Amino acid sequence: MPAILGGTPVRRDRFASWPILGENDERGWLEVLRSKKWCRIDGHRVERFEETWARTMGAKHCVAVANGTSALITSMAALGIGPGDEVIVPPYTFVATINAVLIHHALPVFVDIDPETFQIDARRIEASITRETALLLPVHIGGSAADLDGILQVAGRHKLPVLEDACQAVLGEWKGRKLSTIGDLGCFSFQASKNLNSGEGGAILTNDDRLANECRSFQNNGRATVGGLNYTRNGANLRMTEFQGALLMTQLSRLEEQARRREQNAAYLTSLLREIPGITPARLYDGCTRSSYHLYMFRYDPAGFGGLSRARFLEAMAAEGIPGSAGYSPLYREPFLKSTLESRPFRAVYSRKRIADYLDRIHCPANDQLCEQAIWFFQTLFLGPRSDMDQIA
Ligand SMILES: *Cc1c(COP(=O)(O)O)cnc(C)c1O
Repeated sequence: MPAILGGTPVRRDRFASWPILGENDERGWLEVLRSKKWCRIDGHRVERFEETWARTMGAKHCVAVANGTSALITSMAALGIGPGDEVIVPPYTFVATINAVLIHHALPVFVDIDPETFQIDARRIEASITRETALLLPVHIGGSAADLDGILQVAGRHKLPVLEDACQAVLGEWKGRKLSTIGDLGCFSFQASKNLNSGEGGAILTNDDRLANECRSFQNNGRATVGGLNYTRNGANLRMTEFQGALLMTQLSRLEEQARRREQNAAYLTSLLREIPGITPARLYDGCTRSSYHLYMFRYDPAGFGGLSRARFLEAMAAEGIPGSAGYSPLYREPFLKSTLESRPFRAVYSRKRIADYLDRIHCPANDQLCEQAIWFFQTLFLGPRSDMDQIA
């Protein structure tokens, strides 16, 4: 009998707690504490992390910042994105992707998702490009790659830069290259839920010397050098602390092994779930040679479960000891978007007609359907033994 009806749960043990801590984390953190060099201007841990992460990613430059949102804001500042610009984004993403566009007083233009992969549909991007389009901002949602070949082709035809939101895609790959290094710039988040965790944290990757300098300066109040008093541009203080740098260096020691385990478990779970009517795992593009599986995503069809609603299915799974989430709801329906567009600063830039036209153009039926059908398992369910996958299935 199902646990929700009074039966014995499939599983009583909790899944891996997160983060996973070792003695090296404690040592590294205490070293920073005792050194009294807590700011990157005074220490060298953030710098060491930047060198290590750039090498791990195969990129020329890495700029560490306070968090993933700051990484996106900084990247767009480096690209000169501002009022009047349109930025192409997927609707199926964390709100930070959209907020980073809005904070520059640019318009996020939502391009519907590919129903098979849940990623932005690269085939639909071109139809949304206007004279105002200034940037393509694909997200590698769940940690699996968006169709970068398709995206780069459109970008090339229209001479547009590409910023990869790789916040969920630590160690993810496209045709053997690391996600975040294939567009002009790529962003990571090291927030507590993410696959590499320093509580808060972020990084920007690029192979472009000029963009790297702009990012480095912007996140350091426009300064020419780390502790200097010469200014090259405007900016903000979005610096990473030495504590974060130290934690990232020690957390890195487990990253590859954890990534391999998630990948193996996820592949095995997919082989099991494929056999279950009503469950359809998100497909990976052929070019996605590695997913970080930050989220394991699938579609739930009540028809395969005698009409049981998704909400009830999630409750039943939780009762069995298998926690899942219904994921994102349609971002463009959030009241904050409309109130932001109607705010005084936006009014100063955009005519009423332009905003009305902009809102009229939003058409993402595939996303709306996905938001009603999707279920996620978080990355922490994939860090245990293979038998955990049998229990989930
Ligand atoms: C987590 C996340 C961000 C923001 O990162 P923070 O570190 O929380 O600021 C941006 N985009 C996506 C897709 C994310 O998952």
